[in-house]
Amino acid sequence: MKDRRSQQQRGPLINSKEIDTHTAENDSNAPERVYTILAMEDDDIVRQSLAAYLTDRGYKVLEAPNGRVGLEIFHEKKPDLILVDLRMPEVDGLEVIGTVAGESPNTPLIVVSGNNAISNAVEALHLGAWDYLLKPIEDMAILLHAVEISLQRARLIEDNRRYQEQLEELVKKRTAELEETNEALAFENAQRKVIQAQREKLIEVLESKNAELERFTYTVSHDLKSPLITMKGFLGILEKDLGEHCTGDIKEHLDRIDRAADRMFLFLGDLLELSRIGSLVNPPTDVSLTELAREVVDQVNAQIEKHKVQVEIADDMPIVHGDRVRLGEVLQNMIENAVKYMGGQTNPKIEIGMRSGGEESVFFVRDNGIGIDPLFQDKIFGLFDKLDPQSEGSGVGLSLVKRILEVHGGRIWVESEGEGKGSTFCFTLAVPAEVSSADLG
Ligand code: ADP
Repeated sequence: MKDRRSQQQRGPLINSKEIDTHTAENDSNAPERVYTILAMEDDDIVRQSLAAYLTDRGYKVLEAPNGRVGLEIFHEKKPDLILVDLRMPEVDGLEVIGTVAGESPNTPLIVVSGNNAISNAVEALHLGAWDYLLKPIEDMAILLHAVEISLQRARLIEDNRRYQEQLEELVKKRTAELEETNEALAFENAQRKVIQAQREKLIEVLESKNAELERFTYTVSHDLKSPLITMKGFLGILEKDLGEHCTGDIKEHLDRIDRAADRMFLFLGDLLELSRIGSLVNPPTDVSLTELAREVVDQVNAQIEKHKVQVEIADDMPIVHGDRVRLGEVLQNMIENAVKYMGGQTNPKIEIGMRSGGEESVFFVRDNGIGIDPLFQDKIFGLFDKLDPQSEGSGVGLSLVKRILEVHGGRIWVESEGEGKGSTFCFTLAVPAEVSSADLG
């Protein structure tokens, strides 16, 4: 049962419709075919009466008074059926049967003989005769029946032969097609393996370059911090040395150097942070995003209060698996940005929540601040990219966030209808979040 079903699903290897089983007999529109019968008989009266009877029944009859003439006509006209007497002058019936059966085994041969010796009948059948009738034929309907049956059998043999031929042709064609497909598949497979190997090699190279770059960034940002601290230290000493002379332009210039040093300190700190992200420092744990968001909002509460921002946190966000500290940094950065880029909003509001995005959960931090022109929505995730050069901040924050989420197998993007329309920062995490913190009570 199972086998039959799977065969049906696959479909037959060869569809019988592809083979032409059409014959003139089953086509009612085809003109009726006139069959040719060759009658070999030395007795003129018998031969002519056979011919007259069969002609009356719609056959075309060719006559031969002996085996030699009969064989000549057979070679020239290729009749559909042969009636042959056994005893004939020149070439006798048994020789005719031997020749015809050897050259054209599908041409029906009916022996019509007065020689009633059983041994002759056996030999004739043995040589290839299809039927044997005894003369005198008292009821011609017996002859007609034998002719019709033999012709029908010949047609079936011919149909079968054509069917076999077409079948073999189709099998050959399908085999060639299969071989071609197999070759193409093997080639594709080999190519895929090469590409896969190249890809793996490339990833390896990239990973090692990335690690090298991270080490370099770490060393540079770390090492640059100490001369900066020295500069700031001596700036303080200089200010002290100048004492009451530290006024006007001098004071302003020293203040500017101090502010620039502070900014550089901030940059180096962010760079240092970015270089560390490649290797997550904290082992991943189950983190309730709702709880984490509440904690982060508490930490930045001073800024929130200062700008009178209303914050809403969804209480059904799920438990996710990741580095709690880093995920906290993600939320903190987004919340701080939301406060920072609120603009002149009189009713500032931040929403932190989750929406379903098909197979994955999409988390978001939404604000009703200055918004972001769609043209620049990709740019802001680049290192040091800021839309307003005058704004405070190094432009590293969102690069950090992006890198942290990538390390967690997630993505980040921003949705904003444009300037003044607020922004929604969305992100995903690779591990499906199944348990909601609300479920945990
Ligand atoms: P920074 O805030 O230090 O400049 P970020 O990488 O955090 O750097 O942000 C990059 C830029 O993206 C910001 O300078 C700002 O132009 C834009 N941006 C980030 N968050 C928001 C937001 N919530 N609303 C509008 N613009 C934003």
